[in-house]
Amino acid sequence: EDFYRKLPKVELHAHLNGSVSGQTVEKLIGRKPQLNVEHSMTAIGKGQRRTLDECFQVFKAIHQLVDSEEDILMVAKDVIREFAADGVRYLELRSTPREEKNTGLTKRRYIETVITAIQQCKNEGVDIDVRLLVAIDRRNGTEVAMETVKLAEEFLVSSDGLVLGLDMSGDPKVGHAKDLLPALQRAKNSGLKLSLHLSEVPEQLEESGILLNLPPDRIGHGTFLHPEVGGSQSLVDKVLKNNIPLELCLTSNIKGKTVPCYSKHHFKYWYQLGHPIVICTDDKGVFCTDLSQEYQLAASTFGLSHQAVWKLSEKAIDCIFASETVKKQLKQKWTDVASGIA
Ligand code: 5GP
Repeated sequence: EDFYRKLPKVELHAHLNGSVSGQTVEKLIGRKPQLNVEHSMTAIGKGQRRTLDECFQVFKAIHQLVDSEEDILMVAKDVIREFAADGVRYLELRSTPREEKNTGLTKRRYIETVITAIQQCKNEGVDIDVRLLVAIDRRNGTEVAMETVKLAEEFLVSSDGLVLGLDMSGDPKVGHAKDLLPALQRAKNSGLKLSLHLSEVPEQLEESGILLNLPPDRIGHGTFLHPEVGGSQSLVDKVLKNNIPLELCLTSNIKGKTVPCYSKHHFKYWYQLGHPIVICTDDKGVFCTDLSQEYQLAASTFGLSHQAVWKLSEKAIDCIFASETVKKQLKQKWTDVASGIA
């Protein structure tokens, strides 16, 4: 529907390599035919569902296709243009810096290349403000986490505000957040904003309690925090007390089988509380969706009026990691669109 595409939107939870579209995958396959990767291995189509474990196999296939500076530049530029075309006006991309021996890619060059993509899109006049969160993959353990934080700290200083913070993601069933606490604490102290995947699976109650004590600046998913799904009131209270926004990705949770159906999504719980929530895509390529569609799904599932949807997208501005000045600019943009000026 036109309303959702024209609605100016903020996207705060988008993993770079999970956001790669089918078109871009075709280009990548063309570059690396010897890999025998097929498009069906990099996306979960309509009506299909996979376990979270199987979703992580999908990322493996994509990572095989995206392993050089050239690939990352193309992927990042395509993803940014696609979000802009969908009406996203502010985007925080997140990505795990990877080192690839056979192409000479280093973690530092990885981050620099994503930054170059952001700058090139800006110079080309793409109508979107893009920032980067450096991701820690929890399965890589304490040392890599600390190394990633140090790298992110450097870019926090040198990237002219493009690198704003840190994400912690990766298979929630692997590794312990406890081991990552020193790195996360250090990141927080040095001014990096923290968005942490939290309670994505039911078995993380203790871990979520520990991580919420940091506290993070935003929560990714938070699917099993509330008591109705086996979480606890004390976890909910920690989220409420610190007013920590939740990034909610409906289709991702349905297709990844952590939520049984749209109407049972925890969007409802937090929306009814009036707590800050931001609708996001997670992995628009892998889950074959876009942000307009996610807003539309939330609206049709939970009976939101256009006015309520507008409010939801406008309130997302308060949850971004960029400065108050940027927030003001965005709010002006929303006002201009509403009054038909833009
Ligand atoms: P990248 O960081 O390579 O740009 O994006 C893919 C990576 O993002 C995956 O390997 C994984 O670490 C992380 N990721 C993407 N989607 C999800 C998700 O739904 N849950 C978690 N925990 N991690 C994810």
